[in-house]
Amino acid sequence: MKKHNFSAGPCILPQDVFQEASQAILDFNDSGLSILEISHRSKDFVDVMDEARQLALELLGLEGKGYKALFLQGGASTQFLMTAYNLLQSKAGYINTGTWSDKAIKEAKLFGEIVEVASSKEANFNYIPKGYSIPEGLDYLHLTSNNTIFGTQIKDFPEVDCPLICDMSSDIFSREIDFGQFDLIYAGAQKNMGPAGTTLVVIREDILGKVTRQIPSMLNYETHISKGSMFNTPAVYAVYVSMLTMRWLKNLGGVKAIEEINDRKATLLYSEIELNPLFKGFAAKEDRSTMNATFSLTDGDLKDAFDTMWKEAGINGLNGHRSVGGYRASMYNALSMDSIGVLVDVMSELERKA
Ligand code: PLP
Repeated sequence: MKKHNFSAGPCILPQDVFQEASQAILDFNDSGLSILEISHRSKDFVDVMDEARQLALELLGLEGKGYKALFLQGGASTQFLMTAYNLLQSKAGYINTGTWSDKAIKEAKLFGEIVEVASSKEANFNYIPKGYSIPEGLDYLHLTSNNTIFGTQIKDFPEVDCPLICDMSSDIFSREIDFGQFDLIYAGAQKNMGPAGTTLVVIREDILGKVTRQIPSMLNYETHISKGSMFNTPAVYAVYVSMLTMRWLKNLGGVKAIEEINDRKATLLYSEIELNPLFKGFAAKEDRSTMNATFSLTDGDLKDAFDTMWKEAGINGLNGHRSVGGYRASMYNALSMDSIGVLVDVMSELERKA
């Protein structure tokens, strides 16, 4: 039986792409070769990379607006330092909304002064700070749009007069935003985009070239832009499956269409968390993520019963992160409404039995 996969990442991908992705391992484009054994310089793969880069910009509505899309390696964690390496000359601002922002701050401190403009650390990151003032003279402001571990999501982005950088690893392509307000967006593939192994970076070219330090070639965005994201061997298969996933999303109607589905899924689950007295949500209501719902049981004695029930229902990956505890239901783009229905049924069944 195929599981209802609520994992936080790597996580569920659209099952529709698996057939094509598997066939490409056996015989890619009827070439008699596997995609795993072709040259990344072959026309077949260059076409894949070009389409992946074009689809990323198209889905974000950024085509023809001075942005470049890159598929790099080293995960979003490498972007924590690469953003600072390339853009931090003296002082940058960070909004600290969770573990991943914290890690980004730690790396950036190696390159200059970091101002923690706002933080929700004192409340174990259960809300998104608001109403803060942004100091002048920042080289950039860095945000994390969705906090995978804590289940919070920024709904309104600050207006700034410096470049705006956003880690969108866990909600890229999930909701309509004016993506043109950002100067650099990065996202590890392994949630809404594809398998682990590649990281999307979308960057407005004109913010580059402003720092005085020497930047090693591999960590310099300009290197990768000038080589069409082919400076070194890319993660061929991860880029290919990401491209298939972006095609799938485009055929579905793009980000607007998936946002409607994601909103319905999140509403169904959060309504159950609200109405069922056996559960309580972790994140502040107005900041709740449509991608990761964090919640716990109000009566810890029911843990064994609940855990047995969801596992028997074929649910996978519901345990919360250790820094929050309880449960986390990740509802990425590829998770169906049916899977949410199964989880909600288990939760209400527990209430009936308790
Ligand atoms: N940023 C966010 C919001 C994440 O959720 C994660 C991983 O889950 C990361 C960064 C780190 O990504 P990676 O493992 O690709 O370095």
